[in-house]
Amino acid sequence: MKVVFDPEQKRHYPRHFLVNGVVESNPEVPERADRLLAAARQAGLEHVVPADHGLVPISAVHTPEYIAFLSTIHERWLRIEGGSDEVVPGIHPDRRDGAYPLSAVAQAGYHMADGACPLAAGSWAAIKRSADAAAEAALMVRDGTAWAYALSRPPGHHAFADMAGGFCYLNNSGVAAQMLRGKHARVAILDVDVHHGNGTQGLFYKRPDILTVSIHADPVRFYPFFWGHADERGAGAGLGYNYNLPLPRGTDDEAYMPALAAARRRIEAFAPGALVVALGLDAYKDDPQGGFAITTDGFGRIGEMIGRFGLPTVLVQEGGYLCDALGANLTRFLQGFGASHTL
Ligand SMILES: [Zn+2]
Repeated sequence: MKVVFDPEQKRHYPRHFLVNGVVESNPEVPERADRLLAAARQAGLEHVVPADHGLVPISAVHTPEYIAFLSTIHERWLRIEGGSDEVVPGIHPDRRDGAYPLSAVAQAGYHMADGACPLAAGSWAAIKRSADAAAEAALMVRDGTAWAYALSRPPGHHAFADMAGGFCYLNNSGVAAQMLRGKHARVAILDVDVHHGNGTQGLFYKRPDILTVSIHADPVRFYPFFWGHADERGAGAGLGYNYNLPLPRGTDDEAYMPALAAARRRIEAFAPGALVVALGLDAYKDDPQGGFAITTDGFGRIGEMIGRFGLPTVLVQEGGYLCDALGANLTRFLQGFGASHTL
């Protein structure tokens, strides 16, 4: 089995992260990729570099305005006298249905949900290659490979069709799901990151062909706050095709498994042709995000159970931050998944 990753993805090196009014070091660092790649190899996966898939896969889920913004904003930002060398929004529109702003400052506020998605030199190249990794893994699975792992870094599940947020820029899991739709009438996305996959939910909220399921820390007092509540069930033709399973902070392995079983029942009832797993590892007990209390063994069990869904599967890396067990958590997940996965 393959791990798809391009070292170019390490060119994104955000330095700052505005949280609770404090400028902190950004935890979404390139070293994550080194650790995760080593862990995937440890699990027996073979590393491949993705092809350049151009703009078609990302244009299928993101607006042209937004893609133009991401690919040009850093260069334009540097022309602001006295501006920083990272794009960080400082002003946001109170509504997003007015005229599209022309200024770089205003566009940053329009397209960025928060202060956790700075853009610097090298960012766009890395963001694009991260999406290429997801696209490549999706193509492998679409063309008959049982499963593949996209080491997508920077992550993607907080990115909407036209908005970055929470370390995410392009929605890699959404890109993979949309590509699988080229073969399968119905595709499911299961998001196990400790944060709700709000961007992914937003992409497919009104669609009945892509089921979005997310298990995450209750957003009532946890990022992304405004999304991820149990009453968000989809809209229009998509009503009933979004399933949120918010769980209390501190949820451990034993409390997690029943939620995963509920997610499985919903996915089986949908009868998808393929599955995308938005694979955040930040539900770990010692992850700096501090949401859940999943153990390394727990990730093995979670992987094993998802493998038993018996679906062609694209695993797409989401969160999971530097801590001693980051690599071991991925290795165990992949081992558990690989051992139980059958088609
Ligand atoms: Zn997360």
